[in-house]
Amino acid sequence: MAEEKVDLIVIGSGPGGYVAAARAARLGMSVACIEKEERLGGICLNAGCIPSKALLDSSEHFFAAKTKFADHGIKTGRITLDLPVMMKRKEAVVEGLTANVRSLLEGNKVRIVRGTARLEGKGRVAVSSGGSKKKPEIITAGAILLATGSVPVALPGLPFDGKRILTSTEALALDAVPDHLIIVGGGYIGLELGSVWLRLGAKVTVLEMLPQIAGSLDSLAARTLKRLLTQQGMVFKLGAKVTGAKASGKEVNVTIETGGKKETLSGDRVLVAVGRRPNTEGLGLETAGVATDAKTGHVTVDDGFQTSAADIYAIGDLVPGPALAHKASAEGVAVAERLAGLPGLVNYDAIPSVVYTFPEVASVGLTEDAARKQGIGYCVGTFPFAGNGRARCMGETDGFVKIISEAKTDQVLGIHILGPRAAEMIGECVLAMEFGASAEDIARTVHGHPTFAEALQEAAEVATKCSVYRGPERG
Ligand code: FAD
Repeated sequence: MAEEKVDLIVIGSGPGGYVAAARAARLGMSVACIEKEERLGGICLNAGCIPSKALLDSSEHFFAAKTKFADHGIKTGRITLDLPVMMKRKEAVVEGLTANVRSLLEGNKVRIVRGTARLEGKGRVAVSSGGSKKKPEIITAGAILLATGSVPVALPGLPFDGKRILTSTEALALDAVPDHLIIVGGGYIGLELGSVWLRLGAKVTVLEMLPQIAGSLDSLAARTLKRLLTQQGMVFKLGAKVTGAKASGKEVNVTIETGGKKETLSGDRVLVAVGRRPNTEGLGLETAGVATDAKTGHVTVDDGFQTSAADIYAIGDLVPGPALAHKASAEGVAVAERLAGLPGLVNYDAIPSVVYTFPEVASVGLTEDAARKQGIGYCVGTFPFAGNGRARCMGETDGFVKIISEAKTDQVLGIHILGPRAAEMIGECVLAMEFGASAEDIARTVHGHPTFAEALQEAAEVATKCSVYRGPERG
């Protein structure tokens, strides 16, 4: 078989890979995108962002119908759950979006190659499909982009078995509501999937080794979120070290140590959500001379996403930085533009992150703790949703907006929002940071009334008052 040659080979069709492939093709490159799974879209579309949000939305409706409708004067009969329908709907959402990715790539004349890719030296990739008997197809290219994502981290003593001890992928596809779901890891994946099953009727216990859930959040947001999820019925054990788990029949016993005290918890499912590690297995990195970080396993890259090997680039969960879909996509765009001779860049100071619990927590930029640690003179402006008209109309007044600004210049350093629709509100905050806005810029921007975003304007007003900067018109 003649070897095919293209300008760019992209390995992996997740939000990093498919976005890079489409952008590179639009910029005039011939592109092949290799994906080992039948469905395109990577973890995000198939077993991450999208199915989790579909279930979060469905379970939120279920929970609201049971617990909130009456307050709004809506009477219903007995609310019951049809889990197979809920799962079918989730599957349809995933199916539709993964099909869109295929259309996008096909529409841009990207060659989609089904199979497992392996680097075979400079500019060469071998693609295996259809078992070991079939000879791998060789594709060559001027540049290769690695976008193979990440896989769940397993804990010693808790081997995944797909039935009782689960990864997030299985926890998104259970065929019955667990009686007691034990979640190891209080990060965003654990809290989101915990929220789904809690709302659908499970008892949910979250075990977290650190003294705080969602470790990267602003500490006020993390504390408030824990209080609100506790009110919803989620049980937390912080400072808890999980030492092992044993499954027998329908039961699974998890042993933990908290401050020297040993305890065994019994549940019927355990979700291990303690993080994800770069997916480099079988990629042939050594053959190609691609270096990885000895501690984290990430592929090391320079500012232009170039690995230690010439003409091999890497992006997304495979490289350092927040393991988020939009970060992977931003890197995908930037690397494609660089390959086309354009100045592709990612502003890592303005990458939003969202925890899709109810209420949501969305943030961008520095936390107050980080500003303090960096010795920056800062101001804090907060505003509670209890004082916001729209929040009162909706009956959802928990939470706040918190703005961190530089005291000397009033420039916004970080914004943290805990409240309904926080995920949508953070877009304005990211834009503000991209444009180097001051808190005063936000405070003077006219916001629609009544909206949740008015709380942002109010918090900005508070931060501006604290700042030593005074604009000329205010004397
Ligand atoms: P991936 O999406 O992991 O894609 C990598 C692709 O490469 C896969 O399709 C894989 O099959 C393929 N591949 C791997 N090796 C090979 C090979 N050798 N040959 C061919 N193909 C290969 N992020 C958000 O921003 N928002 C969210 O709400 C969110 N929710 C999440 C919920 C869950 C439960 C999980 C697990 C993750 C979530 N994430 C979320 C994280 C997000 O999914 C990842 O950050 C994102 O998918 C990373 O994109 P990527 O392109 O780097 O890799």
